[in-house]
Amino acid sequence: MAGNPRSREIKLATIQQLDRIADAHLQWTHAYHRSLLCGDSPDPEVTAPDAHHSCPFGVWYRQLDLSEYQPWTTHLQRIDVLHRQMHESAAHLMLGRSGAAMSAEAYDRFADHSYRFKTGVRALQMKLIKDICLIDHLTGVWNRSSLSQRLSEECDRMLRYGGSCCLCMMDIDHFKMVNDRHGHAIGDRVLQMVAATAQRRLRRFDSIFRYGGEEFLVCLPRASLAEAEASMERIRLEIAGTAVVVEDDIEIRVTASFGVSEFHSTADMDACIEAADQALFIAKATGRNRVCSF
Ligand code: GH3
Ligand code: MG
Ligand code: MG
Repeated sequence: MAGNPRSREIKLATIQQLDRIADAHLQWTHAYHRSLLCGDSPDPEVTAPDAHHSCPFGVWYRQLDLSEYQPWTTHLQRIDVLHRQMHESAAHLMLGRSGAAMSAEAYDRFADHSYRFKTGVRALQMKLIKDICLIDHLTGVWNRSSLSQRLSEECDRMLRYGGSCCLCMMDIDHFKMVNDRHGHAIGDRVLQMVAATAQRRLRRFDSIFRYGGEEFLVCLPRASLAEAEASMERIRLEIAGTAVVVEDDIEIRVTASFGVSEFHSTADMDACIEAADQALFIAKATGRNRVCSF
């Protein structure tokens, strides 16, 4: 499943914040090595038991609402642990400094924690950037650019394990009229409602993509044609039954039409999308607000 459109700002801010953290980490490491090598007196910011709380990562991490960071919470918690270990091994090394040679083992431990902390931060940044590139900002479902990669993954899976999957094309009925009557901003809210309703109804391993303006493609792995039809029927009913309330208590209701096709490992994915599109065409031509299969 794709993410929540609300979190795009959080992702962007986090990418920038992680950049600042990585820079600060580099500077801190430099200053640390300097005092380690040049024999400066131990910096209390390094040796204090809570040193990991007062540096940029520590300060930032401690004020985070982790519930806003799904599905990256575990990654963040892992970085936090590495960060604390890095500070502990840094303090241990600094305090254990004496005229004698430093323990290579203790230094390697610090270097390893420091490296793993930095790569953890970079990996999280890359995940967030990838996510921003693959998710439709308005609706929070996968965007069209992510479609071919995800569908070919599904193809590979079917070639390996057999079975089938279904593709469904969903298109809002008379959507242009919503824009014409209520304006584009309200149209956007209707699009969000439709995408959220479909997403809520799908299984964890199903995917929904924004295929075009008010058109969505749903991929249902390991679903028979009958199961896919039933799933789209549930979504159809829920969309038709959900009102978008706008100013002055005006309620906007829309319906959607669906075309379903079954995909086998031997078939061509583009042909399967085309088949779902043709089924959608039939649904539109025969009255809209219905599910048709190819
Ligand atoms: P049909 O039942 O045959 O599908 O009719 P329709 O009006 O839904 O289809 P049509 O293709 O004529 O119009 C689609 C409209 O969707 C036109 C376009 O302005 C609108 N649209 C596309 N993308 C967006 C968007 O991101 N936001 C809003 N508000 N409207 C959009
Ligand atoms: Mg339409
Ligand atoms: Mg359309």
